[in-house]
Amino acid sequence: MTEKTVNCLDWNEIQSNSGFHKIACLKPERIRTTRLETELDAWLNVNQGAINYIDQRRDLLIDPCFQRPWVKSIIVATFQPRKIQSPLMNLPTPKPGEPYAEIAPYALNEDYHTTGLNLLEDLKTTLVNQCGDAQFEPNVDTGPVPEKALALCAGLGSNALNSLLYDQELGCSAHIAVMFTSLDLPQRIKQAPENCPNCGRCAIACPTKAFQPNSPFRVRRCRAYIANELRGPLDWNQQKLLGTTLFGCGKCTAACPSTISQAPLRVDPMQILNIPTAELARIIKNTALNHAGTTVIKRNAAAALGQQLSARQRRDIAPELIAKSNSPAIKQTIQNWIC
Ligand code: SF4
Ligand code: SF4
Repeated sequence: MTEKTVNCLDWNEIQSNSGFHKIACLKPERIRTTRLETELDAWLNVNQGAINYIDQRRDLLIDPCFQRPWVKSIIVATFQPRKIQSPLMNLPTPKPGEPYAEIAPYALNEDYHTTGLNLLEDLKTTLVNQCGDAQFEPNVDTGPVPEKALALCAGLGSNALNSLLYDQELGCSAHIAVMFTSLDLPQRIKQAPENCPNCGRCAIACPTKAFQPNSPFRVRRCRAYIANELRGPLDWNQQKLLGTTLFGCGKCTAACPSTISQAPLRVDPMQILNIPTAELARIIKNTALNHAGTTVIKRNAAAALGQQLSARQRRDIAPELIAKSNSPAIKQTIQNWIC
């Protein structure tokens, strides 16, 4: 494996042929670890205990190159998931006036992990062709990597009020891919990214007030966190926060004036609970929902149903749903309904 110093690399040409929205390249010495540490501490101050890998991998999150001494360049890129005819359109839809559960618009595209990793693989091929073989480590929300902090260091956007990355053209809908490499590539940092204008529309749109202007993001109140990340049964308060969400949420993203967003998909939570698990697994395979898994998706359907039925309806239907399920998390979520 050769590790070359590459002085002449046309980043503009690489970006325009890459499928990425923007590409930047950071040098390890350019990363301000004190800034990463300050941001992580601010997060942990409010959200400690919510996400295991953030609590446990502080070393990698404040200094991503500390345990990667071979890294000479960090490529940071923004992208949107590839548009596809989503298999989620095959999920049962609710009749008008009946309970529903919503899937966030971004999940109706190709799984963003797949899009990002495929784009990184193509970029790796381009770099190997131009610069020679080297070591690479791609990441798209697939490990303890401070993606947003690196994107901010690289000037790919600014801090959005809802704690995502704000991009002038994509609003808050940009996903971030990171690739560590042993290639000594020329630095490429975007200058003076447009600041989030702080219009406050995302805060107004957030149904759970997970964040407000001048107050920190409280991840335990975020529907996307409860729906996608939290495992096990949901208590009644968590079900109230989750509301009608089946997967994701994205209401703050959709409210951002620069975001181009489609409508969420409404599905029938009762039919989702009754659909054979193998059939549900087949439909959500290759979508972002696969990362949550069938148990979490059915648990969220139970929560959405519980929020829209009357106390009497909940009391009538709960025993049958509990008897039908073989998942302790789903059974307990239904048992936690206030009947
Ligand atoms: S994803 Fe939903 S719940 Fe979470 S911050 Fe945005 S609007 Fe609020
Ligand atoms: S909605 Fe307004 S405040 Fe929120 S991220 Fe977009 S521009 Fe910033």
